Amino acid sequence: MSNAALRVALLIVSTTAAKDPSSDASQDILSEVLENEGGGKWTLVDTKIVPDVVTQIQRQITLWTDIAADTINLILTTGGTGFAVTDNTPEAVSALLHKTAPGIVHGMLAASLDVTPFAMMSRPVAGIRNKSIIITLPGSPKGARENLQAVLKTLPHACLQAAGMDSRTLHAGGVKKLEVEAGLRPGGSQPHSHDHSHDHSHDHHSHGHSHGHGHGHGHGSLVRHTAPSSNPMSNDPSLGPSRRNRESPYPMLSVEDALGKIKEQTPPVEIVTLKVDRSLPGHVLAEDVSARENVPAFRASIVDGYAVVVPKDGNMKGVFPVVSVSHASPGHAKPLKEGEIARITTGAPLPPGATSVIMVEDTILKTMTDDGKEEKEIEILADNVREGENIREVGSDIKAGTTILSKGEQISAVGGEIGLLAAVGVAEVKVYRKPVIGVLSTGDEIVQHDRPGDLQLGEVRDTNRITLMCAARECGYHVVDLGIAADKPGTLEETLRDALRQVDFIITTGGVSMGELDLLKPTIERSLGGTIHFGRVAMKPGKPTTFATVPVKNNAGERVMKVIFSLPGNPASAIVTFHLFVLPSLHQISGVSPVGLTKVPVTLSHDFVLDKTRPEYHRAVVTVGKDGNLVAASTGGQRSSKVGSLRGANSLLCMPSGKEPLKKGTKVDALMMSGIRIEL
Ligand code: AMP
Ligand code: MG
Repeated sequence: MSNAALRVALLIVSTTAAKDPSSDASQDILSEVLENEGGGKWTLVDTKIVPDVVTQIQRQITLWTDIAADTINLILTTGGTGFAVTDNTPEAVSALLHKTAPGIVHGMLAASLDVTPFAMMSRPVAGIRNKSIIITLPGSPKGARENLQAVLKTLPHACLQAAGMDSRTLHAGGVKKLEVEAGLRPGGSQPHSHDHSHDHSHDHHSHGHSHGHGHGHGHGSLVRHTAPSSNPMSNDPSLGPSRRNRESPYPMLSVEDALGKIKEQTPPVEIVTLKVDRSLPGHVLAEDVSARENVPAFRASIVDGYAVVVPKDGNMKGVFPVVSVSHASPGHAKPLKEGEIARITTGAPLPPGATSVIMVEDTILKTMTDDGKEEKEIEILADNVREGENIREVGSDIKAGTTILSKGEQISAVGGEIGLLAAVGVAEVKVYRKPVIGVLSTGDEIVQHDRPGDLQLGEVRDTNRITLMCAARECGYHVVDLGIAADKPGTLEETLRDALRQVDFIITTGGVSMGELDLLKPTIERSLGGTIHFGRVAMKPGKPTTFATVPVKNNAGERVMKVIFSLPGNPASAIVTFHLFVLPSLHQISGVSPVGLTKVPVTLSHDFVLDKTRPEYHRAVVTVGKDGNLVAASTGGQRSSKVGSLRGANSLLCMPSGKEPLKKGTKVDALMMSGIRIEL
């Protein structure tokens, strides 16, 4: 066994200590135990303090387990394991575990129960995430010390195994040898003929060992790693259909809570500099933009007519020689003196010295040049002319330096923002980067939508990929086609890994129900090291909608988070959940606010049957009636497989659950997917 120091990180979970670190006593006590009783095997490499907040606990732990460059072998938390309302460390930790280690929990509880029956009031969890073992210790320094002492000696072996050391090497010599090495058994004092060493001559990484305790499971029996109560994690696909969870281990979230998770876990915005060109619309500004130049940049005429120098009395009546012509084209006009006039066109620069422009309508042609082609003299019929008439002064539209657009404003494709940027000479702007989206269909039965020929029994044409790609593009995002992945763990993992290199967001459909071939969740959690933030939502359609983030190294070698939305396979569910969940996340990461579809109140034009238990997002047509009121009618059968129910739908009605139908005339909220229709 290696003597290299095993790396320990300590997380103090205490709202009090987070405010005042000096109030914490556990750190000293635990580092003392590691040092004095750890056999020189442990180094405390990091200590952090967080309040009793699940997300903060999880964030720090995943920084250690998923992001840290060097493996942290052991993560100890202390605090938040009791029955108080604020105690939620076990819940925060168990959601992160890839494997549970109930043996460690038993070990700690047994030792503490020897000391006091109040050990029953501690709710420890232990297990493995990636290569790290995580153990929750109680918050009381005494309890924390006793618990750590109870398990510390067995941990080096477990840590090495969790970190990926070959178990054959590790187990050569059997349990007795391990016990001796761990200091749990005096060296050489026991014969080692009839021990359990045969158990350890095989590779069995997945077993939670409890060495020397006569564990009852032989090698023939399968181990179930996850139970809904202890460990909300996906099935281990290698366990096969008979051992999959029969109930989803993921808590059922309300739509509101699911949206809350999306808001919390969507990666932060990124700022990029883009050229002002046709690809700019749809982006949101990450800076205030000010005008580089005055608009207009020169004194320009507003009308076709004659530039003049107005005399003091304002009386311009009389006949004047036309000394020059100013067209709307670059170049310098000849200066104008009082008594002279210059013909000028709309938008043309005024000759220097000109103070006003007389409209052509207020003039009469008096004489022409000899060839009859040019005006020679013009009679002006205006008096009371004031300086500045019919002139746009420099900067009268927009002054150089003024803010023309603000941070957070979206450059719309139909609005005038792009023209405004163009007018004031802004060539580049800082905006929030829009994510690149990959769309993947999954399922052995799915074939290209345009594959020629008839379908074989069981084949289904890929409806979702083209639908979602078009929807995402319509929303202004760049889309990558990831094709169709078969329901094979390796294939799916490879496809997703490749995709994570190319895109920021992956949208998959299918494979999130409860069938044994439903591989999305296990692949995300077990193979990609991702975190599933929710895997079930109380809604219709779209119950198995899954939202996860996966840590990935970008080109610069930095760890970044990418997003996977795994939507249900049924076409109607897929598009509904795209609008409801994916779009808000896309909006958030691209700086669009408010996020998601626009909600408007509408009146039901007929009775609607409700789902008894789940709120429903009902595909509907919203029209504006002659009275200006918005009314909604169903597009018909709402079964989640019914793609026909989307035909003509421009909205999703937010229907509550209920036993009685919702009556015609009731007001509900409608989420608008596209423009409102006009009643014919
Ligand atoms: P799953 O979530 O994989 O169990 O899929 C649920 C249902 O949706 C099954 O009937 C699938 O055949 C169907 N389905 C899955 N993906 C697609 C797709 N891309 N296009 C059309 N139907 C699909
Ligand atoms: Mg499937």
